Amino acid sequence: MHRRRVAPMKTKPRDPGHRRVPTPRAGISRKETVAAGTALLVLAAALAACAPRSGSPDDPSGSMRPAGSSRAGVLGPPSEDGTPSGSADPAGPEPPPYGFASGPEVIGRSVEGRPLEMYRFGFGPVSRLIVAGIHGGYEWNTIALGHELIEYVGDHPGVVPADVTLFLLPALNPDGDARSHSFEGRANAHGVDLSRNWDSGWRTDWPRAGCWNHLPITAGSHPASEPEVKALSAFIESHDIEALISYHSAALGIFAGGQPAEPESVRLAEALAAVTPYPYPPLDGDCAFTGQFTDWAADHGIAAVDVELTNHTDTDFEINLRVLKVFLKWRP
Ligand SMILES: [Zn+2]
Repeated sequence: MHRRRVAPMKTKPRDPGHRRVPTPRAGISRKETVAAGTALLVLAAALAACAPRSGSPDDPSGSMRPAGSSRAGVLGPPSEDGTPSGSADPAGPEPPPYGFASGPEVIGRSVEGRPLEMYRFGFGPVSRLIVAGIHGGYEWNTIALGHELIEYVGDHPGVVPADVTLFLLPALNPDGDARSHSFEGRANAHGVDLSRNWDSGWRTDWPRAGCWNHLPITAGSHPASEPEVKALSAFIESHDIEALISYHSAALGIFAGGQPAEPESVRLAEALAAVTPYPYPPLDGDCAFTGQFTDWAADHGIAAVDVELTNHTDTDFEINLRVLKVFLKWRP
């Protein structure tokens, strides 16, 4: 592990230079990844409708599922009438009225009306959340990573501990993603930076020196002025989220939520840094951050970190599979 370490800072850097213009990833594009994932999940749903199944060696939670559920993950409503479709063991725990996986659930809409799609995996009382794409198409590889993780977890349900429910929102800013995969794709359709619109240290403006400043971008007219932020904050407040990751790109490392950083967020950041080349503390970009998502989450008692991928082109899937496994087993 050759992580570059710097001293902790009072202000946290984020996305200062964005040194590269995104280019299509060799071999597989995000759209191809998304299409492949969607096709797999649709296929899984079709299989679930016609084939009996049981738990597998990598699927210790299989016996918990109702008979109508799928090992590979069923997307969409769990059953025709919303009730349990079967009970494998009358003496065992009551199966929940849905399969191991469900989604996408539309938790809200973007400014331009695109759905904000949440996926769920597992049944446990401990709720974890991964959010990608808060900076839209400018950080499109985080969205691609989100879909790769959805596909992986759907196919490997044993990765989710029995006491955990994982929620994953692959694209918080779908309007930005649709607009451009360069600078122009960062803000939402109101020109708002969705990572500066949260009710935590929110300000109408901030010193631009040292911060991302490639285009005019605002914090919104007031905290949570944007529908994307309203939808996600409402979801979090109604789901008792214990810890979360927000994915960005690129290259600065891992940031712990809270200003100053909250101890549990620091512990989570350190745990993730230990299995990745992403540094914690992160690299110093000398930017003062306001209205940030992870700061808001930390204010609400959630262990929260921003994780920056290595560049604007790769999903770092193998690295973030390790992140996922540590994240799901980590306890405050
Ligand atoms: Zn970002």
